Amino acid sequence: MAANLNPAVLTESLARHLCGPCWQSATTLLGEMSIDLPALAEDKKVNLKQALGAALAGQSDKFEQLDTFLKARQLMSDGPSPYAVRFKLPPTPNESTGEKFLAGAKAKFWGVAQYVQDSKLALRALRHPTILREMTLALPIGGKTAFVYGVFACYQPISPSKGGIRFDEGVTRDTVKALAFDMMIKNAVGNLPFSGGKCGLRVDNTLLTREERELLARTFIRSMGPELGPRRYVPGPDMGTSDLIDVMADEYESVHGEWVPAVITGKSIARGGSEGRPEATGRGAFHVFQSYLREHVGRHSFPNGRARIAIQGFGGAAQPFAELASKDSNIVAISDRYGSMYNEHGIDVTAAIAAVKKTGRLPEYNGPTDPADVLFLPNVDVIVPAATEGQLRADNASRVTAKLSVEIANGPTQTDADEILRDNGVVVLPDVLANLGGVTVSSFEWKQGLLMEEWALATVRERLETSMVGAYTRVSAAQQRHQVDFRTAAHIVALERIVGQLTPLYR
Ligand code: NAD
Repeated sequence: MAANLNPAVLTESLARHLCGPCWQSATTLLGEMSIDLPALAEDKKVNLKQALGAALAGQSDKFEQLDTFLKARQLMSDGPSPYAVRFKLPPTPNESTGEKFLAGAKAKFWGVAQYVQDSKLALRALRHPTILREMTLALPIGGKTAFVYGVFACYQPISPSKGGIRFDEGVTRDTVKALAFDMMIKNAVGNLPFSGGKCGLRVDNTLLTREERELLARTFIRSMGPELGPRRYVPGPDMGTSDLIDVMADEYESVHGEWVPAVITGKSIARGGSEGRPEATGRGAFHVFQSYLREHVGRHSFPNGRARIAIQGFGGAAQPFAELASKDSNIVAISDRYGSMYNEHGIDVTAAIAAVKKTGRLPEYNGPTDPADVLFLPNVDVIVPAATEGQLRADNASRVTAKLSVEIANGPTQTDADEILRDNGVVVLPDVLANLGGVTVSSFEWKQGLLMEEWALATVRERLETSMVGAYTRVSAAQQRHQVDFRTAAHIVALERIVGQLTPLYR
């Protein structure tokens, strides 16, 4: 295998290539290597990307040939594709996806108005974002100018607002509005001192060079002007930006001529980041899971007292959850984008994490071919969707046999599927509660920045647990008081807090 060649990166690059104009040459090459991708995809009823992952699993001898192929097409980072391909002009993502996402987020919130007194004026105030800004960033690159579209939205019952900045080709005005709206709800459920904000720049992040991404990050910080600040909008990492946070902090400090660590979160420890951030989402989800089990002891009976857990997606958020949960439960299935792994007696989670860190892949693929199918395995007590949105839908939700779902991913369950799960007696600990740990520790980073303090890992962990158990307790109390599901209860908790923040201002 070529030196430092990461199979996950290679598969990702090739999959991108398969969808692009070089489809013909890519399939010819795979044909020469006896990989008939369309036939494999058809046979396994998976998409081309999944078929590619399955085909390449364990065939490292082929990587070098494929790597050479990609390099020759200048798709790897050391040979950028032509400027016009990298900065698509003008890109046109499907606007309706963002519209639906936004409508769904708002419908759920408006739907709980009946449970919250005096919510009318607050809801009227939140019909539109407090701030909505579309922007065009002009980047001088290679003697030409590239124009990049961006959006900043915040729903701001109180200041500051918090929510990530993403570089992604799917960015639209409504997607960013929906993400900001979701952040407002999440921050309110967690009793965090923020409202909701989000920023997105529409670029195909994977096609840009490191220098171009840095230039984009710095240009973005300058273009935000006074909108950005420790008491205004405090961004953090989101899709495509986690490795650019230090650069953005540096740009802000250069412009303002002072050290302002609270302006952005997700920084490296050396530049004022917080201990415990990488593990925070999984750890937080574990505290919610544990709190639920403690409260409902006796409701679920597990073989030998150990819950059987299946996890879809085994990335940065899922791994700490799996590690902690495996002490008292059996993690019987895990999946990544290439396939899944199964062991009815419990997977060795530590070994699986080590393999993913080393190769970007699970150590073996002996479970269902379609990675989503771990959610539908029989003999599973708990499912943990931790991959991506929209995995449980009206067409598959009735296949879930587990009785508890812990949502680490954002939006893994569509509204219709939620109803099916509820009717089938599946309890859902929703994303706005279960994956709060990340933003909670980001709020700790912000506080440490304001106070110029450095908290030890043990302090961060202790405060995270207190915060997550507190959030669970508030949501659980609302769930019992109103006899609703946990998602509805979490929205009630959020609306109550926001009404409390806004009504003193209105008559
Ligand atoms: P990640 O990129 O580290 O890992 C994603 C994992 O999901 C990988 O194992 C990938 O192979 C797998 N995957 C992708 N598509 C899949 C599919 N269709 N089927 C099965 N597996 C698939 O991402 P992450 O940071 O772990 O985030 C995972 C989810 O958690 C996302 O929805 C994210 O928005 C949400 N989340 C993450 C954080 C955080 O702090 N990381 C915070 C809140 C919410």
